[in-house]
Amino acid sequence: MYFAILMKKSDPAHDITVYERNGPDDTFGWGVVFSGKTLTNLRNADEDSHAEVTRNFAAWDNVDVVHRKDKISIHGNSFSGIERLQLLKILQRRCEQLGIELLFRTEVADIDSLRASCDLLVAADGVNSTARKQYAQELRPALDVRPNRYIWYGTNKLFHGLTLTFRENESGVFAAHSYKFNKTTSTFIIECDPQSWETAGFASMSDDQTRQYLERVFESDLAEQPLLSNNSKWINFLLVKNANWFFENVVLLGDALHTAHFSIGSGTKLALEDAIALFDCFRKKQSVQDALEEFESTRKPVIETYQAAAHDSMRWFENAQDYMNLSPIELAYSLMTRSGRVRDEDLKRRDPQFMARYEAERNSFTGTAGVPPANGTRSH
Ligand SMILES: Cc1cc2nc3c(=O)[nH]c(=O)nc-3n(C[C@H](O)[C@H](O)[C@H](O)COP(=O)(O)OP(=O)(O)OC[C@H]3O[C@@H](n4cnc5c(N)ncnc54)[C@H](O)[C@@H]3O)c2cc1C
Repeated sequence: MYFAILMKKSDPAHDITVYERNGPDDTFGWGVVFSGKTLTNLRNADEDSHAEVTRNFAAWDNVDVVHRKDKISIHGNSFSGIERLQLLKILQRRCEQLGIELLFRTEVADIDSLRASCDLLVAADGVNSTARKQYAQELRPALDVRPNRYIWYGTNKLFHGLTLTFRENESGVFAAHSYKFNKTTSTFIIECDPQSWETAGFASMSDDQTRQYLERVFESDLAEQPLLSNNSKWINFLLVKNANWFFENVVLLGDALHTAHFSIGSGTKLALEDAIALFDCFRKKQSVQDALEEFESTRKPVIETYQAAAHDSMRWFENAQDYMNLSPIELAYSLMTRSGRVRDEDLKRRDPQFMARYEAERNSFTGTAGVPPANGTRSH
């Protein structure tokens, strides 16, 4: 929808149809997160939808790390969240305003005939993309099913910041990624390694039993608020890459094209920024072929860099067990620097108090020549 908006806005003569198998109010998930930089990109691309998004979002600047009895806040990280359904509604209204045809409850099964009837087919058909399967030979996707399991819940307990909570029980380690996205609700994603998942016995639990088990694990964090299910199921994160991003007049976009672990930011942000990048290519180039080539050659390096950072972050969470011996402040430092892209200088600039506290604790263990723990080797 976002790509359609940008194209139609730039030239109302474009004849654009969006096909969606779901109804206009159906959605999965809870809230989506944007960084300050993404919001600037959205403002530059379309001020109208940006204004509506920012009217409806919840903003914060802290990452909170909860480990044992401590909560460590690291400031200077500007993020905001919006309800996924709200965002879809904003984009739907904008499409209608511009005269873009939205066909809901319409499954695209025959991609070949659809693409024969148009100049360009943008396949933003999600992580299980039909188009990617149909043109697998040409697009050469690489799919990697990761070992950790995760499940998306909501809750009415408000987490005023991107909160990463670690809890251990007899079965293993559970990590929650949570953040509020409006005045009443937070997203609450729970992730665990396959060993913890097996030992907890989730394979034989019903959805309700799973939810109740996890409510007990995070009892002290949820303040008696239940976990809210939206047909929530355990899933394995699927890492998606494609050697080729388009075939003739079909181009992939968003999750169909690439995924990045949710611990580093939302797939929605990447999908929207793809739409902006693709639109820019159509602005610069005259033919569909040239625009798609330009899209692949300019956007691919950006996504590869992003996926590399997301990969390091994903690996950190896959090995979370190894870090549980760290003290809360060490764990917070390890988390903040996990992707290798945030350096000590960055943290000092963003939150000098946090760094001063971390360095003081590190030095108290190692003397003034202290070496920061790269992983969970210290035990106390
Ligand atoms: C269960 C689940 C919950 C999630 N919750 C969140 C969340 O709370 N916050 C967050 O930031 N991210 C969430 N995500 C991730 C996020 O949804 C994606 O990263 C992001 O939406 C990518 O956007 P997209 O447009 O590429 O794909 P999608 O949002 O997946 O959109 C693809 C659309 O194409 C439609 N479609 C697919 N195939 C066809 C077809 N053949 N014919 C017609 N229509 C078709 C689908 O119905 C869907 O609406 C969630 C993902 C999953 C799987």
